[in-house]
Amino acid sequence: MAEQEGPEFGKADFVLLDEVTMEHFMENLRLRFSKGRIYTYIGEVVVAVNPYRPMGLYGPAAVEQYRGRELYERPPHLFALADAAYKAMKRRAKDTCIVISGESGAGKTEASKYIMQYIAAITNPTQRAEVERVKNVLLKSNCVLEAFGNAKTNRNDNSSRFGKYMDINFDFKGDPTGGHIHNYLLEKSRILQQQPGERNFHSFYQLLLGAPDDLLASLHLCRDPAQPSPTGTAPVQPSTAQYPQGNVRFVAEGEEAALEAPEQLRVLAQLTATDPEQLRKALLARTVATGGGELIEKGHSPTEAAYGRDACAKAVYERLFSWIVGRINAGIAARGYDVRLHGKGTVIGVLDIYGFEIFDTNSFEQFCINYCNEKLQQLFIELILRQEQAEYQREGIAWQNIEYFSNEPIVELVEQPHRGILALLDEACLAVGTVTDALFLASMDTRLGRHPHYSSRKLCPTDKTMEFNRDFRIKHYAGDVTYSVEGFLDKNKDTLFQDFKRLLYNSADPVLRAMWPDGEQSITEVTKRPLTAATLFKNSIVALVENLASKEPYYVRCIKPNDQKSPTLFDEERCRHQVAYLGLLENVRVRRAGFAYRQPYDRFLLRYKMTCEYTWPNHLMATDREATQALLEQHGFQDDVAYGHSKVFIRTPRTLFSLEQERAQL
Ligand code: ATP
Ligand code: MG
Repeated sequence: MAEQEGPEFGKADFVLLDEVTMEHFMENLRLRFSKGRIYTYIGEVVVAVNPYRPMGLYGPAAVEQYRGRELYERPPHLFALADAAYKAMKRRAKDTCIVISGESGAGKTEASKYIMQYIAAITNPTQRAEVERVKNVLLKSNCVLEAFGNAKTNRNDNSSRFGKYMDINFDFKGDPTGGHIHNYLLEKSRILQQQPGERNFHSFYQLLLGAPDDLLASLHLCRDPAQPSPTGTAPVQPSTAQYPQGNVRFVAEGEEAALEAPEQLRVLAQLTATDPEQLRKALLARTVATGGGELIEKGHSPTEAAYGRDACAKAVYERLFSWIVGRINAGIAARGYDVRLHGKGTVIGVLDIYGFEIFDTNSFEQFCINYCNEKLQQLFIELILRQEQAEYQREGIAWQNIEYFSNEPIVELVEQPHRGILALLDEACLAVGTVTDALFLASMDTRLGRHPHYSSRKLCPTDKTMEFNRDFRIKHYAGDVTYSVEGFLDKNKDTLFQDFKRLLYNSADPVLRAMWPDGEQSITEVTKRPLTAATLFKNSIVALVENLASKEPYYVRCIKPNDQKSPTLFDEERCRHQVAYLGLLENVRVRRAGFAYRQPYDRFLLRYKMTCEYTWPNHLMATDREATQALLEQHGFQDDVAYGHSKVFIRTPRTLFSLEQERAQL
């Protein structure tokens, strides 16, 4: 139980709820939010509600308040969690990770920044120059990544459109020596089009806003004269800015595509430092190998040419983003760190990844993101249980099994080899002949029709949630999501003609060239069956989950209080939904199923010794454990507690309330 908070602020730990029901949970969450208490624990999990206003909670004084303290000694805070992860890493040489989840706009990225800021503040007391350098790159990389990977959406003005996992390496002194960033599934389709009210990635506006005129001119860009000057702070709309890629249009010449404005070639070739003729070819045709291994050029139809152009634009941006991440990684790679001298070192990982998404229309991207969330939820439940079990073992206390909802069947539905949705999708993408989205849907209906978590419009014609024949539905742990199968095949194939890769590999611009190492391959060398987008994504998520599972996890569960970005509005319905799908009630139950509360003997005595004559002002027993036992027996709580090697475990919160009451009455 966190100190320094009176009962008027509600329960600082949901484990202490009188009853674990949605009503009690929501009441406590609402009360705390209304009192400006945005953080609440579930044991060691931090539940954070986005305050949508500056809280003044993160300054140097706050850092000092939490530095080196135990979780329950201070009001709930991200800093307490960061400190716990840091202590475990430093004292017990454990690799730890902090997993931050929640939907778009819930405050994940802000939370990850505060955590990084805290770790930076408490490390490197001796100001070693190399450590300072690493810390600087780690902290400042955010700004670059957000410029290229974040955008204004209808849900969040600064929405991360990629997933991010960052490892921070520490030496034996507990100072950061390096780090590494992994990025996941950048929403590259955004560079071509955005929903009404949404924007392209920040980088475009920042370029228009901040670049000097001559640079803009050399890029063939111009500012909208109606917009503020570069010194203004308002973002520039790109309405009249001329993006070279977006301008390339095709017309039909007979069957084949031709450029609508051939004079653009020169500009485009200049911008990409490529040969105009090669560029023209790459835009209008692709090289294919005949059965006999002979290479021929096959002209595109205008539709194919437009498809190729779009794929190329998306790939350029995606690879640019990965290239930037690579540059940052090179800057924070642990340097001058000698494993033989300093030992292996330890790691804290921070994961800030897209939360569960249910939109009006859900497509391939939502399918991938929601699958990722299923995997993380599965890990969450497993790890929380495993952690509990490990603690009981460490303390020599008998473990009782806990019943919990397992989302294993849903994960299987998606990823089971040969039979799962991903396998069927890949099968459809790799099949010869014309396979359409509709045929893929039909194959899911046939092969997965009986799965309890799958249905489709065809299988349930009366189901009103599926409006169109193209719809299928997955019963996710977080709720039912209807997906439109349209575009699944295309997005999964994610074809980029080898001609573009070769073109850009041969660019005279060293950066562009470095981004296309696979452009060196000739068409006959290119593997016939490249891995599909979904499979690549699955592999990266499986690796991520394995990595997280090998570390001691700490969790931040972010909640978005309303859709209006209001600091005062607590939208009951929206919050309840998030509490449900984040599995928070379940989390409380798991935590309470065994022992709701535990504390080292000395800390326990410090708090409650005044409630018992044997322990006040100081006990005369041989150990703190015996003194704790005497105290609890005097109160008649002996049946509700267990004594571990270093901690006392209390089964029901009520015992703790009584102790608190005793204490308060003195
Ligand atoms: P997405 O999934 O779209 O990236 P997110 O969960 O990362 O969303 P953030 O960008 O972290 O969301 O938060 C959205 C906005 O909410 C921030 O830009 C900020 O205005 C506000 N916000 C979030 N956390 C806090 C906080 N602790 N204090 C004050 N404001 C906050
Ligand atoms: Mg974010």
